[in-house]
Amino acid sequence: MRHTRTRSFPVLMLTLAFFAGIIYFIVNLVINSSVWVSKPYNGHLSDSSGLEYAGKIIDRNGIILAKSEDGKRIYNEDEITRCACLHVVGDDSVNISTAVQTLYRSELSAYDFSFGLGIPNEMKEGKDIHITIDSNVQRAAYEALGDRKGACVVYNYKTGEIICLVSTPSYDPMDIPKDLDTNDVYEGAYINRAVSASYPPGSTFKLVTAAAALENDPELEHLEYDCTGSTKIGDKDINCFEISGHIDMKDAIKTSCNAYFAELAILLGRDKMTAQAERMGFNKSWKFDGIETITNTYNVSSANDNNFAWSGVGQYTVLESPINMAIRSSAIANDGVPVIPKLIQSIDKTFSGSLAPVPERSEANRMMSSETAEKLKEMMDYTVKNYYGNDNFSDELDVCAKTGTAEVSDDGLSHGWVTGFTKDEDCPLAFAVVVEHGNSGFYAAVPVASAALTAAAASLR
Ligand SMILES: [Zn+2]
Repeated sequence: MRHTRTRSFPVLMLTLAFFAGIIYFIVNLVINSSVWVSKPYNGHLSDSSGLEYAGKIIDRNGIILAKSEDGKRIYNEDEITRCACLHVVGDDSVNISTAVQTLYRSELSAYDFSFGLGIPNEMKEGKDIHITIDSNVQRAAYEALGDRKGACVVYNYKTGEIICLVSTPSYDPMDIPKDLDTNDVYEGAYINRAVSASYPPGSTFKLVTAAAALENDPELEHLEYDCTGSTKIGDKDINCFEISGHIDMKDAIKTSCNAYFAELAILLGRDKMTAQAERMGFNKSWKFDGIETITNTYNVSSANDNNFAWSGVGQYTVLESPINMAIRSSAIANDGVPVIPKLIQSIDKTFSGSLAPVPERSEANRMMSSETAEKLKEMMDYTVKNYYGNDNFSDELDVCAKTGTAEVSDDGLSHGWVTGFTKDEDCPLAFAVVVEHGNSGFYAAVPVASAALTAAAASLR
């Protein structure tokens, strides 16, 4: 009898574990099936299946970017619009992992819990998805990027609505190039560089170093320095693009003095620099509307002094995505608190899935004090008014900005960056642009930002 009990105990435990597993699976199936079904590993979605009767994707002005007709997926009639919106809308495949047609395929294609994807055709009624982007602004940014690789993000820093999310290179989803996977022109074409790529941020990172200083001691705003064009830190020189002479922090932002911010990083030390970088989105990623962005990197734990000094001007191994740069600019515009972007405006009909909550200002995300934000805003405003020229961005909008020209480890030309925001109450936009190997933030990235902001002002006002 005792033997039987000893043996029956493991059997009982196994049986319980089995039923617990079944219950766990069923609960997960009910909760997650509509998400699982649209994942790239679902072989049933490897071609256009699921899109034959799918709902429309519609931009903020009611322009149809994708729809299904006679069992076929059709994209906007304008080729430039199709290319400009590819990374947001997607194509028939699921290669672009952050696209609406990949992330929301089950909603678009009327996935049904009882029938799965095998729902009878006569019962299929996919949901329409309204997205926040403006296809006119998409086109303007896409054309300004031209045949260069890069990305442009513009979003409303009050509501979180993404107005522009362009990545190049792109391709026409209705006429997919035969050499897409072999021609260097299309290198990384499936990647939405705005959210899934990261680059050295270069001088745009001086805003992070400045924030680290001001958060620790607001008086550092008045820290003065004599720039002679270079300074020796550790065993090597940190060189500037120009000799700035006698400057304070505001002028160091204006002339983008490397020596000033390299010395400032050394003065602050690794812990304070790392803490501020992490408050401003580094060593983490963002999630919104099903999109998970690439992780931004700031790690100086094994840097020597010279390397650490370079990290203060956004070099060394510092890496940042365009979307993060736009988010931290939104925090400067918003008294220190960023607004998380959003792409999905609404999903028609009886949508029962879980949407990301409406973006809101959350103190938990605060990146800096409102005093620090105000000072950085003044410095970026001063830089545009006295160095870049506001008319190089817009004739109508009041722009605050910082450019960056980030050296790359290979022999290629530097990446060109610009980030900033508008001060206009009726058109509150945060933005970031990167042009790979553009060689200059001012000459390569500013014209792209200008094209997008000008189109956004025309469209939103
Ligand atoms: Zn300098």
